[in-house]
Amino acid sequence: MAENRVVQGRMVTARALAELIEGEDVMEAEAIEDADRDCPECGGDVLEVGYMPSVTAFVTGWKCQDCDWKETDRE
Ligand SMILES: [Zn+2]
Repeated sequence: MAENRVVQGRMVTARALAELIEGEDVMEAEAIEDADRDCPECGGDVLEVGYMPSVTAFVTGWKCQDCDWKETDRE
């Protein structure tokens, strides 16, 4: 069940959003959620998505809907 969202004017699936954050293919992504925070760069709305870049890793990523800003909970 994928809910598509608009990011920088483009419709993306959870997986596509995770790949935008990661910069490469991911194995699996959870549903997109609205993060309870604003973009530090432009004040825009931030989306949150949990994903698995590989079988042994789980990352939570955030991406602004309006600009290039993104972040993960990786060390
Ligand atoms: Zn932004």
